[in-house]
Amino acid sequence: MKTLTKEMQAAISPAMALELLKEGNKRFVNNLKVNRNLLQQANETSDGQHPFAVILSCIDSRTSVELIFDQGLGDVFSVRIAGNIINEDILGSMEFGCKVAGSKIIVVLGHTKCGAIKGACDHVEMGNLTALLSSV
Ligand SMILES: [Zn+2]
Repeated sequence: MKTLTKEMQAAISPAMALELLKEGNKRFVNNLKVNRNLLQQANETSDGQHPFAVILSCIDSRTSVELIFDQGLGDVFSVRIAGNIINEDILGSMEFGCKVAGSKIIVVLGHTKCGAIKGACDHVEMGNLTALLSSV
């Protein structure tokens, strides 16, 4: 799998970006991940990046988007926060990913058995987590 270049990114439509993620998830579900040379991708992206997607997901250890969508270095912007909430910092990151860096799609990825959602439903209050859960 090739590392995305500016030209490759420019040729991807939003519909194609969604399809790339669906295909990657299908590979993940079937345990058929693409063989990537991540060190080579790290070197190839050292001077710039051209990810095709911005994905907002939870910090949950089971929802690593690069793994569950079978993507490599430089393919997606991964924005992670408990409960995949939106705030100005997250929106600014998404705007950077799309308007500045050229990503074609934004995905908000929730998941089952989310501790943040459960905490918000249970009205958990604990340090800084209280403010975060009020946004869920
Ligand atoms: Zn979660």
